[in-house]
Amino acid sequence: ESADELARRERIFAAAQERYYAHPPQIERGWRHHLVDTTGRAYIDMVNNVAGLGHGHPRVAEAAARQLRTLGTNSRFLFRDLAEYSERLLALMPQGSGLDTVLLVNSGSEAVDLAIRLAQAATGRRTIVALREAYHGWTMASDAVTTSAYDNPFALETRPDWVHVADVPNRYRGTYRGDDTAGRYLDDLSADLAALDRDGRDAAAFLCESVLGNAGGVLLPEGYLAGAYERVRAAGGLCIADEVQVGFGRLGSTFWGFERAGVAPDIVTIAKPMGNGFPIGGVITSKRIADALATQGQFFSSAGGSTLSCRVGLAVLDAMVEDDLQRNAENIGARLADGLRALGDEHPMVAVVHGAGLYLGVELVRDRATMEPADAEAAAICERMRELGVVVLTTSERSNVLKIKPPLCLTAQSADQVVAMLGRVLREGW
Ligand code: PMP
Repeated sequence: ESADELARRERIFAAAQERYYAHPPQIERGWRHHLVDTTGRAYIDMVNNVAGLGHGHPRVAEAAARQLRTLGTNSRFLFRDLAEYSERLLALMPQGSGLDTVLLVNSGSEAVDLAIRLAQAATGRRTIVALREAYHGWTMASDAVTTSAYDNPFALETRPDWVHVADVPNRYRGTYRGDDTAGRYLDDLSADLAALDRDGRDAAAFLCESVLGNAGGVLLPEGYLAGAYERVRAAGGLCIADEVQVGFGRLGSTFWGFERAGVAPDIVTIAKPMGNGFPIGGVITSKRIADALATQGQFFSSAGGSTLSCRVGLAVLDAMVEDDLQRNAENIGARLADGLRALGDEHPMVAVVHGAGLYLGVELVRDRATMEPADAEAAAICERMRELGVVVLTTSERSNVLKIKPPLCLTAQSADQVVAMLGRVLREGW
């Protein structure tokens, strides 16, 4: 049956549509951190960072159904839910950050596009500085700042002139291998900003994730984000934090990724877990920056910030608190990271376990000294894990990192099972 479904899919879909496995499971339903296929087989879902609360959360399903019966869509006239949801989102921002204004859209890509427009409108400048190896979306502007060769192989040649790509502060490989302090990365960023200034292309904004998602969940070096924000602001630019993946408690110790670094951005993009599967995205910024959009015409989204998305968004926020998910991400994430790191003692292929909370990356290499990526091995390990009942995929432009970002309701028992299963697969030899 799944072979038929695969053939059907390949007839009607574009070749660029990612298929993930040689034999993808045909998924029919989900429950908490499990997915169930059409044969009734259950998998532990280690990749779904959209269903942050877990699949099929009753609170969200009930809120959506109730609102659809009452009034599915209104994003034009006054309604209380929009103000209530926006105030709840703002209350999650750090005190004194000046982040007091919300614009709601439908996806992370749209949020990144909007953030770029806001920064350009507010500064009267055009250049956006993005880090190498980043993913920020697929729409025209978010794709232009998507610098990962894996996600956008053509981007290096065709990138619009308003994008400047700064080197990625990854201490595990590349230019900065072995650099644990932020000094050299920041000197290079300063040089980039000065060069842009000299060329008359001064930075409107610096855009990055607080943990380098597409590089494999790599944590930023201590002091990097604070130093980068300071330099960008001194050069008259704004700072955009893309919290589409790392926000909403996923990192465990803090609700937002940027809070780990003790900084507050000027513009924050949010999406993925906001609707637990229902499409919601947004931008949070200050009124001063948001008001600059008036120079660009009116802002309107047919479904962004509708009654329905606000009701769903409120249910998600309530459920996050009720289910204590940020704390679970911290506790279970630490347990999982310990277990995965211990695998490295036995298996030299496990070079580093990146990340924090339930946002981890297991970097697989053929040789720890050269860090030669074990890409084919990583793909085979994912196939084998699927056979054994765990859904996990690879990331990074070298495709050698197992990305671990399950629903935040993951249990200790399932975390232990995944570690044991990966240990078993690694022992099978690669
Ligand atoms: N920013 C980041 C950091 C992301 O990871 C993603 C999605 N993977 C996006 C933006 C784009 O979000 P969406 O897929 O909802 O358009």
